[in-house]
This record gives sequence, structure tokens and C-alpha cells, in this order.
Amino acid sequence: MKVLVIGNGGREHALAWRLAQGERVSQVFVAPGNGGTARDAKLRNVPISDVKALADFAQEQKIALTVVGPEAFLAAGVVDEFRSRGLRIFGATKAAAQLESSKAFAKEFMKRHGIPTAAYQTFSDPALAHAYVDEQGAPIVIKADGLAAGKGVVVAQTLQEAHEAIDWILCDNKLGVVHNEGGARVVIEQFLQGEEASFIVLCDGKNVVSLATSQDHKRLLDKDQGPNTGGMGAYSPAPVVTPNVHAKVMHEIIHPTIQGMARDGTPFTGFLYAGLMIDEQGQPRTVEFNTRMGDPETQPIMMRLKSDLFEVLMHATDGTLDQVELQWDRRVALGVVLAASGYPLSPRKGDAIQGLPADSDDVMVFHAGTAQAEGGALHTSGGRVLCVTALGESVRQAQQAAYQVAGSIQFDGKQYRQDIGHRAIKR
Ligand code: ATP
Repeated sequence: MKVLVIGNGGREHALAWRLAQGERVSQVFVAPGNGGTARDAKLRNVPISDVKALADFAQEQKIALTVVGPEAFLAAGVVDEFRSRGLRIFGATKAAAQLESSKAFAKEFMKRHGIPTAAYQTFSDPALAHAYVDEQGAPIVIKADGLAAGKGVVVAQTLQEAHEAIDWILCDNKLGVVHNEGGARVVIEQFLQGEEASFIVLCDGKNVVSLATSQDHKRLLDKDQGPNTGGMGAYSPAPVVTPNVHAKVMHEIIHPTIQGMARDGTPFTGFLYAGLMIDEQGQPRTVEFNTRMGDPETQPIMMRLKSDLFEVLMHATDGTLDQVELQWDRRVALGVVLAASGYPLSPRKGDAIQGLPADSDDVMVFHAGTAQAEGGALHTSGGRVLCVTALGESVRQAQQAAYQVAGSIQFDGKQYRQDIGHRAIKR
């Protein structure tokens, strides 16, 4: 059977690679794909990224299952379009994708359904927003309402930073946010203390299956310094999510979210990602929802998944996830992102990539911002270029294996963190 994966990042390479191992899968198309998905014999890139054209392609090719990677396609209604044509697709509808595309929607939803999260207020009037910040004090968190590719959040340590961020969002749109209907809005949140973890589940509208837990590293530089990025590395499992914390997350966050979305008339299907802050007492709070897999969390999660992902997602699109129990490699998987010169502000493209090892069962190099020229030469074509992901008996072993390969791959301006996994090692 044929499968279509929509997207072009490391997340989509990892999903397509795992789907291609499905017993009943003959071919996986990736739209538009990248230099890595172009090189894999069972994967094929198709240069389409328009919602209607994707649905036309799925119809023509008799695609059995489509899986959506990036949030932008969900927010553009790709799931609604496919379903209206009777095509099988795994992802959130446009209405359900508001859990990610509108922070104001997500916060109101959490409040209404009693889901633990930071206290907050939403404003469109700058004067009221400034007054609220003065009343609350710093540290405080200022978030643009709308999709901002991970750049719409300012964790303000001082009142001055907070006031500046409000003006950037409400007056100048300096963060380049795609506003939701109704114009610019800002969500101002209480600052939460604790350790972050990524908690991702599969949903079929009513049933839920949790994936292995993971932890991302958002800052560009070692010791969590420097600017925020899309993510510089991740590992799975996340030791901060103890069995006790896991049970709490399912009971207090995931189940109420799925039940709440169904009750509100927007049942949730697809990957639901709860970004958690877990405090010293082990109490989880929701920092954000994403309505898709995380990138780079997908890469280590897919390395550890032993079940046939195609069959699992067929159940998910049939509404029978209650029949699924996932099998995991008990080892640790750890992924290190190699980024281009100038990332995240202005990544350079066109640097030749050399020294890629052959993939093995224990080390995979997932591609993101790469392109393949005719003749097979690879060069950089985006900010995050590759994610070297390795399995090991411990975090340290997975780390060593990933860094050995990360060091041997060459391209001009290569940037990567040296400390992916530091929190797990400290524990
Ligand atoms: P992305 O989608 O890239 O994860 P985003 O733009 O949706 O990011 P959030 O996840 O809401 O933004 O916030 C980005 C980061 O800011 C979080 O991962 C967390 O580190 C920090 N952060 C957000 N909200 C809070 C909060 N209330 N208290 C403390 N830190 C926070």
C-alpha cells in the first residue's frame, strides 16, 4: 500500500522511514521531502505543497494513508479537505488545530476544562497589557497569539523586557506573527518553574495511546544559553516523567483535553503534543499544546518505536486505538541537530555536506534542511540540516554514539550543541 507524508523536515524523514518499514507498505511519498528522503529507495519525493494538489495526488495515486507533519498544513485545513473527499488522513482538523494555532483558544480551553496551566490574561489593547504587567511584576511570559514558528514567546526577566515584547507584538509585529482573525492579541502568563518535557499521544477522537516521553533542547548554545530555536536535540525517554508523573499527565491533562474537545464539537484526531513544565513536587502543568509531533523529538521516538507504525495509524484513523499497545525499544535514543551557519536568524544555504555514514539499526542520520543535486551531491538548504540519532544502553552511550557521527559529518559553518542529554545525565 502507498503512504503519503506531508512535510520536509527531520520529523517527516523519521516518520517516513518508520512507515516504510511497515509490512504492508510498498511505497512512501514525501511531499515535498528533502535531500534525505530523496536518497532512500523506499521513499519518493513529490514537489507538492498545496492542500488541494495534495488531495488530488492522493486520489490519483490511491494513497492508503496520509500523515501530516507540520502545523501549517493542519491550520490550512488539509485534514478537512482530504476527509471531504473520503481520503484517509491522520492529523487534526482545522478547528481542532486551534489548540496550537491560537494560544488564546488553547488557554481558554484549558481554563474551561480545568486543565493545569499557568494563570493568564489576553489583551489586544496595549495600554491594558502594559498595566497588567506592571501589576503582576517580573519574571513574566509574553506570547503572541498566532503561529510564529517558535519565535512568538518572550520569557521576560524584567519589566522592561515585558513592556518591549508587548509593543513588538501589539504595535509593530516585530516577531512576524501570522495573526488570527480579530488581529493582534497577546497572552500574558505567569512564569512557571520546573523542568520541561514533551508528552505526545496519538488520538482517534476518543481513544488515546501515549508515545514514549522525550525532552527537547530549545536554546542554540550549551547550558541552555543563546536564542531559542526550533530545537537543537532531543532524547527519549525523559526521566523527569516518572510513572507517577505519567499517570498524572494522562489523568489531569490528556484525558480531559480529549474529552473536552469531543464535548466542544471538535473531536481531536492526530498527534497531540503537550509541552509540560513539571515542578519539584512532580506536578505537571501545560505550557503549550502542539497538534503535531515535535521536531526533533520525533527522531528519537521513531528510533525506539518497534510497532508497525502504518498499522497503528490505520487503527488511529479507524477509531480503534483502544486495540493498540505500542512496543518500544527499552534503550535510550538521543538526537543531535547539526545546524547551518547563521541559524536561527539567517541560515546560510548551499554548503556541501560530506562524511555521511551509512545508516544502521543503531544510528540514523535524519535529514531536514538538505537538498540533493543531480548526481547525488548533498548541500545545506535550511536552518536545521541533519539530526544524528543513536540508540544506546544509557543516555551516555547514546550520547557518545551520536556525537561520534556528528563530529565526522562536515559542512562549512556546522553548529551543534555538545551537551544534548545533560538533564537526564544529571538525574
Ligand atoms: P514552540 O511551538 O516552538 O514550542 P511556542 O512559540 O509555541 O514554541 P511556547 O512553547 O508556549 O511557545 O513557549 C516557548 C518556551 O518558552 C517554552 O518551551 C518554555 O521554555 C518557555 N515558556 C513558555 N511559557 C512559559 C511559562 N508560563 N513559564 C515559564 N516558561 C515558559
